Amino acid sequence: MNRVAARTGARVRHAPARSGISPRLVVGGICIVLVLVLAFTVLCVPQLRVAATDATFELAHSLPQDNDAPPALLLVSAAYPLPDDYQVPELVTLGAGSTDGSTGIRIAATVQEPLENMLSDSRAAGVGTIFVSSGYRTHEEQARLYESAEDKSYVQPPGASEHETGLALDLGVTDFFAQEWLVENSWRYGFIVRYPAGKEHITGISFEQWHFRYVGVEAAAQCYEQDICLEEYLGMDTSGVNDARAQVAPGGLQGHMR
Ligand SMILES: [Zn+2]
Repeated sequence: MNRVAARTGARVRHAPARSGISPRLVVGGICIVLVLVLAFTVLCVPQLRVAATDATFELAHSLPQDNDAPPALLLVSAAYPLPDDYQVPELVTLGAGSTDGSTGIRIAATVQEPLENMLSDSRAAGVGTIFVSSGYRTHEEQARLYESAEDKSYVQPPGASEHETGLALDLGVTDFFAQEWLVENSWRYGFIVRYPAGKEHITGISFEQWHFRYVGVEAAAQCYEQDICLEEYLGMDTSGVNDARAQVAPGGLQGHMR
C-alpha cells in the first residue's frame, strides 16, 4: 500500500510538470526549424553567393583605374580589373625539361628564372616537391571558367584574374615542409602569398596558400617583412569594394581559380 501510495503521490506531485509543453512538441518544433534552415541553405545561399560576385564585379567597374605601376606590380582584382587593351607580356611554356616537370603551362617570361631558382633551391633544402599546377590563362579561358562555374563565388570574372597576366602561379606541394619553405622563402625570389590569412577584408578573397604572385624581390621583401598584402603595398583604396563584399559575402570570396 505504501508503495502504491508513494507512486500515486509521485504522480500527483509530477502532474503539474506534465501539464507544461510536451517534450514531443519541443522535439517536433526543433525538427521543423532545422528543416526550414536546411531548406534555406540549399535553396537560397547559392543564389546569394552568385549575387555577391555579380554585385562585386559591377561595383568594380565604377572604381578608378590606377594601373600605371611597373608590370610586375600590376594590381588585378575585381576592384581593379585589367584594361580592355591590356597587352599580355611575353610568355614561356614550362616544358618537360623544366625544373618542376610541368608541361604545357605558360607563365610570363620574367617569372621563369625566379621560379626555376626557387624550385631548385627548394630541392636543395630537402623539402617535398613543389610543382606548378596553373599559370597563365587567356581572357577567353577565364571567361569560360566563369561562365561554366555553377558557383561563381569560386571563380574570378574575366579581367579580374591575375592568371591573365602570367604573373600568378598556383603551386602544389607534396608535403607540409615544402609549403612552409614556400611561405618563408618565396619572397627571396620575388613571389608573395597573394591572398594571405588575415587580409581578407582588404583582398576580398579568403586565404589561398597555393596562389603565388610575382611582384619582384623588392616588393616581395617588404610585403613579407611588414606582413602586408599587395593592395597595402601599393596604397590602393579598396574600402568601397570591401564594404560591399562584407555585406553580401562575409569572410570574402573563396576559391581556387583566382
Ligand atoms: Zn591562382
